[in-house]
Amino acid sequence: MVFESLAEKLQNALGKLKGKGKLSEKDVKNAMREVKLALLEADVNYKVVKDFVKKVKERAVGHEVMDSLTPGQQVIKIVNDELCNLMGKTQSKIEFADSPPTIIMMCGLQGAGKTTTTGKLASLLKKKGKKPLLVACDIYRPAAIKQLEVVGGKVDVPVFSMGDKQNPVNIAKAAVEHGKKNGNDVIIIDTAGRLHIDEELMEELQDIKDEVKPNEILLVLDAMTGQDAVKVAESFENKLGINGVILTKLDGDARGGSALSIRAVTDKPIKFVGMGEKLDELEPFHPDRMASRILGMGDVLSLIEKAQENFDTKKALELEQKLRKQEFTFEDFLDQLQQMKKMGPLSQILEMVPGVNSKQLKKLNVDDKELVHIEAIIQSMTKEERLNPSIIDGSRRKRIAKGSGTSIQQVNRLLKQFNETKKMLKKLGKMEKTMKKRGKFN
Ligand code: GDP
Repeated sequence: MVFESLAEKLQNALGKLKGKGKLSEKDVKNAMREVKLALLEADVNYKVVKDFVKKVKERAVGHEVMDSLTPGQQVIKIVNDELCNLMGKTQSKIEFADSPPTIIMMCGLQGAGKTTTTGKLASLLKKKGKKPLLVACDIYRPAAIKQLEVVGGKVDVPVFSMGDKQNPVNIAKAAVEHGKKNGNDVIIIDTAGRLHIDEELMEELQDIKDEVKPNEILLVLDAMTGQDAVKVAESFENKLGINGVILTKLDGDARGGSALSIRAVTDKPIKFVGMGEKLDELEPFHPDRMASRILGMGDVLSLIEKAQENFDTKKALELEQKLRKQEFTFEDFLDQLQQMKKMGPLSQILEMVPGVNSKQLKKLNVDDKELVHIEAIIQSMTKEERLNPSIIDGSRRKRIAKGSGTSIQQVNRLLKQFNETKKMLKKLGKMEKTMKKRGKFN
């Protein structure tokens, strides 16, 4: 889970205040000590933590809390507000040029995820109706050009390259000309990365910047490197000047120190976050939504957006009808599973549901493998069996288990769950009818 350990500690510290009818200054002080520790353990920059706790404390002992009927909730709201402020309040979007093409220069250290992210960004912009062109300017790392070409191929976006014998400044210049001629409205330049920041790299980036005058310089940073990422951001901002950051590998970042420090330290926003290795796992960064995720308050807006992107509304309506008439079969179940899988790992989805906090998530022990098994079992059924599961007898169960690489127990369990769900739907249907008769439901 994103920020799992930080979320757990913050939710623990603030949970103690929740039920209290009245808060003393000591209660607030104690909670703030825990908040401070949680943030420091999450590898948030020390000065940022100090300022943060000071601000929250000042507000928490003021009227807005002390006069409130639910002071504990009020403190949580203040922490939420201040977390939001820390990350920049509102979403920072890409600034597109008034007259295209918009030129985006991607930079960062080796291994941060720059090439992958370049592909992800192109794919995201393409989905939004843009016509991007990728440019291979990393002429030093063997296979870097090939890697960009592969990524471009996967997302079906053209890649401009001139091999590794040309100067990157010339390549960038030629790419812009090429893009203009071909009607590309966004040109994304993948520059060279190094293991460490060095003067030569910075000079090269500066030369490309001077030549093509990018609208956006985006720095790709690996969230897992914590405060090192923040230092890299400071260097790039001081030496080159950046417009924003793309923070990758947030899917594996339990601490969140870099995400919470970058804006406060460099004054530059995080524009996108990488949430996995796949090329569709790049998300716009919303500070407000991230703050409520960290505090276990869910992220309904992102959840709805994800569902809208991945669910077929016509199918959803059909399903609702089927559920009402109790005609729900394994065919529909499989369909649902496949649509849901497109939304991403279950744990990431549940994390966005309000009320599911980090402790509960741990208890639920969400295992995406379980879904894979269920899918395999259903796929091993014949069409007839899917539509009419009552014919699945002992020998059919054996065949299905064998075909799906699962056990008979697993098949039995799924059939049982399915029958129970159907029974429950039947009961609900009956209840609905009775209520309707009594005029209490429509
Ligand atoms: P570059 O050297 O900066 O161009 O880095 P690459 O694009 O080659 O990526 C380095 C590694 O990080 C690859 O294995 C990527 O699959 C992986 N990676 C990139 N972004 C993410 C992300 O958001 N989440 C995860 N889990 N892995 C990522």
